[in-house]
Amino acid sequence: MIKDSNIYLKEREKTFTPLLAIEEASRCLLCHDAPCTKACPAGTDPARFIRSLRFRNIKGAIETIRSNNKLGGVCSRVCPTSKYCEEGCSRTDIDKPIKIGKLQRYLTDYEKAISMEVLKKSKLDKDKVAIIGSGPSGLVASAELALKGYKVTVFEEKNKLGGWLSYGIPPERLPQIVVDNEIQYIKNLGVEFKTNCKVGEDISIKDIKNQGFKVILLAIGMKKSKLINIEGINFKGVLKGTEFLSQCKDKNGKVKIGKHVIVIGGGDVAVDCAVTCKLLGCEDVKIVYRRTIEKMPADQKEKQYCQSLNIPIFTGIKPEKIIGKDGKVARFKGIGMFDDSLMDLPADQIIFAIGQEVEDIKDEIHIEINENKLIKTKNYKTNLEDIFACGDVVEGDKTVVYAVKEGKEAAEEIHKYLSLEKESEIACGEVASVKGGEC
Ligand SMILES: Cc1cc2nc3c(=O)[nH]c(=O)nc-3n(C[C@H](O)[C@H](O)[C@H](O)COP(=O)(O)OP(=O)(O)OC[C@H]3O[C@@H](n4cnc5c(N)ncnc54)[C@H](O)[C@@H]3O)c2cc1C
Ligand code: SF4
Repeated sequence: MIKDSNIYLKEREKTFTPLLAIEEASRCLLCHDAPCTKACPAGTDPARFIRSLRFRNIKGAIETIRSNNKLGGVCSRVCPTSKYCEEGCSRTDIDKPIKIGKLQRYLTDYEKAISMEVLKKSKLDKDKVAIIGSGPSGLVASAELALKGYKVTVFEEKNKLGGWLSYGIPPERLPQIVVDNEIQYIKNLGVEFKTNCKVGEDISIKDIKNQGFKVILLAIGMKKSKLINIEGINFKGVLKGTEFLSQCKDKNGKVKIGKHVIVIGGGDVAVDCAVTCKLLGCEDVKIVYRRTIEKMPADQKEKQYCQSLNIPIFTGIKPEKIIGKDGKVARFKGIGMFDDSLMDLPADQIIFAIGQEVEDIKDEIHIEINENKLIKTKNYKTNLEDIFACGDVVEGDKTVVYAVKEGKEAAEEIHKYLSLEKESEIACGEVASVKGGEC
């Protein structure tokens, strides 16, 4: 069933008008030692930008956001603010938290509308750094390093840049234009991007090193969707959540959706799959999750949106088997986690959104990984010389704002590492010239 895909392509939430933005900022209590600022993993400093906005210093507010968070526009839309900045907002005790995400969106939209250029290109006269992966952690690390003067090249296996921002999160929550604009700001800093270039296939780590890159940062995320091994898993109509969402984005929503769809999972990806099916015309889509609704990791706002679209969420049920007919999915059978209840529903598509895992990277390089197949690091440094790692590939399935934090911190660590190397090279040169030989 293919419906008019405009509703899927159009951003769901409206932005503030200037008047409403100022009004909202005026509710802020201007807290000393503000809880909102302490709670932002990326250090976006909401208290500071809200204060500037409140006193009509819009330029200052935008400067605060952009200099602290290179993906400020993206985060303003997808960040689970109820778990971070808005959760601890002092205004909650009086009535309700300040809509921090929405104010950030207003300001970053304004920045674009007036073509404001906060980030200024630095002179790129330092070492070459290669970043593998152009998801949020790789993008932010690339920008931070370019601002410090490093010559950065990002290698990306896909055609589009942005990782899950471009291939996962649906456009009704995050329009592609917002992602593209922020990538353009980063390109303006002199960062180079090589797309359709998979490291390990099109180019090896050794080749990259031979091209004179001093440090390599792995920001390759988790791209393999998990499946479970139950009867009927190979029937036609069983889909992987992230692949389904990528396809919908690629084809601007012009994708065939079943009449009876069941989505398995409880995170952002599961909710996105269910909402996408509904917006693209499926009348019968249900979410089945194995734990309780309180334990469901998807953002509260997104769960409420599911309810507003009449998408039922069945909790405490795990998949038992899939019944097929002529090689295609026909029914879904589930079993209670807390009692022996049984579920038996008609289905022609079953979408598994039960998490992602890292593609095996051990074949390419002998890097140390932990029991969850995530890369082991210490201060973002791996066990291999000159190789760092950050983002989901280190931390597991996290959030965009967390990837921003990781990208910023990894860039800082790389900068420290290369500066120390430079210092020891200089010291070595001085000793050698005094001794009249090699250091
Ligand atoms: C559908 C979906 C919805 C989500 N919704 C939200 C949300 O609402 N809010 C939120 O905060 N978070 C959300 N997330 C999570 C968030 O998107 C991730 O935590 C974040 O993107 C991780 O960033 P990253 O840079 O570590 O990796 P990724 O975004 O996974 O990017 C990794 C990049 O590396 C590239 N790559 C991998 N291997 C290679 C290689 N060998 N060579 C070259 N390139 C390679 C990949 O193609 C990809 O572009 C969502 C995730 C998904 C899938
Ligand atoms: S915690 Fe809330 S009230 Fe306090 S500074 Fe932050 S946004 Fe304003």
